[in-house]
Amino acid sequence: MSQNESNPNPDKNGNFFNKNPLITFAIFSIVIIMLFKAFIGDENELAGKISGQNVTRTQEISYADLKRLIENKEVEKVSIGQTYIRAIGNDGNGKVAYTTRLVGNDPTLIALLDKQGINYNGFSESNWFTEMFGWLFPFLIIIAIWMFFAGRMQRNMGGGILGMGTSKRLINSEKPKTKFDDVAGAQEAKEEVLEIVDFLRYPDRYVELGAKIPKGVLLVGSPGTGKTLLAKAVAGEADVPFFSVSGSSFIEMFVGVGAARVRDLFEQAKKDAPSIIFIDEIDAIGKSRAAGGMMGGNDEREQTLNQLLAEMDGFGTDTPIIILAATNRPEILDPALLRPGRFDRQVLVDKPDFQGRIDILNVHVKGIKKDLDVDIEEIARLTAGLAGADLANIVNEAALLAGRKNQKTVTQADLREAVERAIAGLSKKSRRIDEKEKKIVAYHESGHALLAETTKGAKKVSKVSIVPRGLAALGYTLNTPEENKYLMQRHELWAEVDVLLGGRAAEEVFIGEISTGAANDLERTTDIIKAMVQMYGMSDVAGLMVLEKQRSSFLGGGMTQSREYSDKMAEEMDAFIKNSLTERYNAVKARLEEYRGAIEKIVELLYEKENITGDQVREIIEAFEIENGIETKLEPRKEHVGETTISE
Ligand code: ADP
Ligand code: ZN
Repeated sequence: MSQNESNPNPDKNGNFFNKNPLITFAIFSIVIIMLFKAFIGDENELAGKISGQNVTRTQEISYADLKRLIENKEVEKVSIGQTYIRAIGNDGNGKVAYTTRLVGNDPTLIALLDKQGINYNGFSESNWFTEMFGWLFPFLIIIAIWMFFAGRMQRNMGGGILGMGTSKRLINSEKPKTKFDDVAGAQEAKEEVLEIVDFLRYPDRYVELGAKIPKGVLLVGSPGTGKTLLAKAVAGEADVPFFSVSGSSFIEMFVGVGAARVRDLFEQAKKDAPSIIFIDEIDAIGKSRAAGGMMGGNDEREQTLNQLLAEMDGFGTDTPIIILAATNRPEILDPALLRPGRFDRQVLVDKPDFQGRIDILNVHVKGIKKDLDVDIEEIARLTAGLAGADLANIVNEAALLAGRKNQKTVTQADLREAVERAIAGLSKKSRRIDEKEKKIVAYHESGHALLAETTKGAKKVSKVSIVPRGLAALGYTLNTPEENKYLMQRHELWAEVDVLLGGRAAEEVFIGEISTGAANDLERTTDIIKAMVQMYGMSDVAGLMVLEKQRSSFLGGGMTQSREYSDKMAEEMDAFIKNSLTERYNAVKARLEEYRGAIEKIVELLYEKENITGDQVREIIEAFEIENGIETKLEPRKEHVGETTISE
């Protein structure tokens, strides 16, 4: 099952301001002072003189004199402060600002001003305090900003403010208390990292034996599936320091900083070895140079990546440092990163299936006071397709809801509401599969699985899943051949076509309607048949004639070549592809009809468990064949050893 979604991939280039900290800082300071002065200035002006008046002299007078001036209408404007009054008058020699101390609280003054029709207002007085404050405040803001920037730079460069300092501590390590028990589900992933724990705990054992320990392990999985949690648990179990950085933070600010950070990171980790380095979002630095599409690419990223590679190669397998890196898209990583001695191991951290969700929910409800009516299984059913982080949020949201309603415990209703809220707030990236979609996906994947298990030459099923994998696939079937092979025979290619068509056919046969979920399958079937005609000499259309050379990726593989065959040949080829697909599709539908009962059983199990094994599929099919006297089409299947392929 596949779904096409565009995958925006924002480049994290530093912009102008990121690269020129000093200029940024200066501009910042000036702007802040000017803003502040403009704001405060108004009041200061009022305090010094009455706005809008050009005063030639000031003269201190008594309060009584002021009143007399007012009575005689010899002042034009009066400003009343908290402790003194200013008035503007004209004594014949130009404008005078009279000042006097306010005497007590004199309500008659206002009345008098009103009576005489003299304009008056109030002002806040400037004193040493407000004056100081007026200057101090912007400085405090500037210092705060300075410190903020300096802190970031220090973390980035390890060299204090603008590299002038001497502090070298840039990446903080912690000793996590997280244990494997905190990571629910993810059994396979835990087993795979178990030996790392052992190595970090007893490095000498391994070193003495001359064993080569993996340096880099790639944790692959969608966001929120617990990759960070698992990495922390490895450190927690081994009781070693955990250095955590995010790939994007390496190239956040200044050119050249990323490489320096990498150097410092490894220096620190070596000092504290045995230790773990965790690089989140490694794709931010490890993106394939070729995948960038643009010539030249991003220097900063490349420098950082090269430094990382150099550091990884720089320490021997006897140095007990393990680098765990997380990514959602291993396929876009630079092949250099995946070479032996670097990130040569991948651990899949999948989204949880039904049982996995129950386990994760149980871990998180442990921390809350729950009502007796809480039914975790129901919540697990409602949350198909969600990752561990989503489930943790749901439990917390439910607790918040209960708190808002002033309840003593968290009830099932709170949890249900939290699920609804979480789902409403989720982006497409982490989507829940609704019941209807789940049904479609279950039939689709069962179709692939059944065809794989009943077609000679097809690869054996090792796992069927309706847990969404990443952005694109809503479900998948893993197929593994029984031997490692480099050659495909013609009947094996046709078998692969049948298996791929099984998904769409199952939708049509069992649901009576077809969906967009087969797009990827159909693309691949078309490609396979086309290759049989054009490249492998496996059709009557072209015979042994090669219509398309195998593309060399060195000689501009992406460029379109001129067609070297006739229009008639092209037409015949198109007709052959189309007719073969129709013929195979009908045969596949007939197979599904024949095995209807088996499909229903597989779907039922898959719908409930979300992940099932190839053995479970085979068991159902065998039982069905015996029951219905169908002669099996396959010899007993052997262990699978070859490279796994996935039908989505
Ligand atoms: P990732 O690094 O894969 O994006 P995180 O490890 O940051 O995901 O997971 C975020 C949070 O989700 C964790 O701190 C934890 O609370 C919760 N979580 C995710 N997976 C699990 C799990 N398998 N068991 C328990 N909690 C989980
Ligand atoms: Zn499919």
